[in-house]
Amino acid sequence: MHLLTSPRFLKDLLSRHGFNFSKSLGQNFLIDENILNKIIKGAEITKEDNVLEIGPGVGTLTAALARHAAQVVAVEIDSALLPILDETLQGLTNVRVVHGDILKLDLDDLVRNSFDNKPFKVVANLPYYITTPIIMRFLEEDLPYMSITVMIQREVAERMAAKPGSKDYGALSVAVQFYTRPKIICKVPAGVFMPPPKVDSIVINLEKRSSPAVDVADTTRFFKVVKAVFAQRRKTLLNTLNAANITDLEKEGLSRLLISLGIDPQRRGETLSLEELAAISNNI
Ligand code: SAM
Repeated sequence: MHLLTSPRFLKDLLSRHGFNFSKSLGQNFLIDENILNKIIKGAEITKEDNVLEIGPGVGTLTAALARHAAQVVAVEIDSALLPILDETLQGLTNVRVVHGDILKLDLDDLVRNSFDNKPFKVVANLPYYITTPIIMRFLEEDLPYMSITVMIQREVAERMAAKPGSKDYGALSVAVQFYTRPKIICKVPAGVFMPPPKVDSIVINLEKRSSPAVDVADTTRFFKVVKAVFAQRRKTLLNTLNAANITDLEKEGLSRLLISLGIDPQRRGETLSLEELAAISNNI
């Protein structure tokens, strides 16, 4: 058994270092070896892989990653965890801990210095308060990541993987599915963390697409359309687009355009597939 997943060992380690959990930094440490293995397997880590870990905590996932990967760079914001990581990662020569805030770090710089701009995989048991901003950062910035495998709140994972017409489908689903192929690896109950969070979690794998899922002439316009369509879910597509200020077309013209694209103007925006959203943004 991996020592760091033993609650008794972890408690002793933390109390020896006088460590206090910070709720605001999302510090819920994994204490389940089975889930640890599922993350590594879901991320398909091999000895060739460079891995970027966000928030190593006491190094439980970090140490497991180091045993399977070529190299691991782990970014941790909390300086109180650094001496603990020194101890738990001792002897693992392919791990580097970087002290910093993943939301503020220059990721281009980090990737250049750490991986020589070569492809890398992101793996993390994410602090939940930064789930959406950090994932959007990876999706939108031109970084050579191959996949993102993360443990996140169940609801957010379900939104990422949701299909058109379902209650969870929204702007986040479209953004994630535009750039990646999301795959849910496993559900994770709150009891596998110390301390347990208030929500259940899911491990999700987002495999980067070599090109976006649909052809769009202008990515900014595409996401403007997406934002408009999901901003007012109860309105018809025609009314939302008409109110959104993204086209010079009058309502009549807009209606004719939608019909010419084979899209009923009376539909709700949340039923539109990525292909239909792309057709609207390319022709509006
Ligand atoms: N990886 C460990 C595990 O699985 O047990 C810890 C996961 S814990 C959910 C989240 C970790 O992210 C904590 O160690 C926390 O201090 C760190 N963290 C929180 N905000 C961060 C940020 N903005 N940048 C880097 N690390 C952060």
